Amino acid sequence: MLSVMIGSEEDELAVGEKINIKDILYESRFFIVNLLGIIGFVWILHALIAGIWNRHSLISGIAMLAVCLVNCYWRMFFVTGFRHRYFSHRSFKNKVPGWLKWAIRTPRQEEMYLRTAQFIEAFLSTADAQKGVIWWASHHRHHHKFSDTADDLHSFDYVCKETGSFWKGFYHSHVKWVLLKKYKKADYDKVPDLKKFPELMFFERARGYLIAPTLLGVGCFLLGIGTGIGGWAMLFGGFFASTFLTYHFTFFINSLAHMMGAARFDTGEESKNCGWLNWFTMGEGWHNNHHHKDIAASQAILPEEERSDVTYQILLLLEKLDLIKIVYKYTDAEIAEARRLDNLAKEKRKSKKRELATADVS
Ligand SMILES: [Zn+2]
Ligand SMILES: [Zn+2]
Repeated sequence: MLSVMIGSEEDELAVGEKINIKDILYESRFFIVNLLGIIGFVWILHALIAGIWNRHSLISGIAMLAVCLVNCYWRMFFVTGFRHRYFSHRSFKNKVPGWLKWAIRTPRQEEMYLRTAQFIEAFLSTADAQKGVIWWASHHRHHHKFSDTADDLHSFDYVCKETGSFWKGFYHSHVKWVLLKKYKKADYDKVPDLKKFPELMFFERARGYLIAPTLLGVGCFLLGIGTGIGGWAMLFGGFFASTFLTYHFTFFINSLAHMMGAARFDTGEESKNCGWLNWFTMGEGWHNNHHHKDIAASQAILPEEERSDVTYQILLLLEKLDLIKIVYKYTDAEIAEARRLDNLAKEKRKSKKRELATADVS
């Protein structure tokens, strides 16, 4: 019934790589959401500026901005914590907490609990309007397998070298790949561990991933009415502007995290560690560390890096609450090795500077 109501993905076949007007219309949802997001920002800005003379307008602007940021970052946590580290890399597992053992006793009850928890996580992850977790995980695993080669979905480096254009490389890795029809469908062979759960497959194929963002949008509209700020104002400022941010903060990881910063490890591709990206991506700025060891739940390695991996801090809290079990944590030897590589790189930079200074003098 649900699939009849919201359609299915069966007819979404791959056709060529070039974007034509049909593709753009096909992905018009994506363009429309971005456009509505920009309108949302203009609305917030207008309310804040008008707020200089009008108190109600100021309160509305601040409230829209606050809801926008809250909706952005809780959904970013589900992107980085669940879409990425749980569904794509399996870097932690759900578990029945000790304090619930009195209610969940048999293996059957335990399985029911774990599958329900996983389904709720999948559902909440889709509130960001980035399709289903299976689609997301299958494409992300493909990226790790073919990073910065011709087969990579969103390689800045490859496209930049092929076309000789920095902007084409950025555009392709940031957003163009999402519009290509050949990536519309998930490659189910890449996700056998997720495919085995019929509830996840049904949810994906029936486009259940449209439900959570729709509910969030309606929730924002009602919040706006209830608080007197205005339904449309809150829908645009609190939902669409926030969805725009969540999209592009996620896309930063595909584009900027392979462009900006430095590589600690020689991983054979162009991933980088870029500290300031963590402000937007909740810890995914340590992308070179992540490509080096994708099973690690933390993308930071050194203790002083860990604070900026907010996603990992939340996962540690969930582990303390006994709700999850982190599969792999960096060992002391690995931390020491990361520090050694950093010192080596520092020394290299210093000696290069000295060489240049000597060359200048001579
Ligand atoms: Zn990854
Ligand atoms: Zn990457």
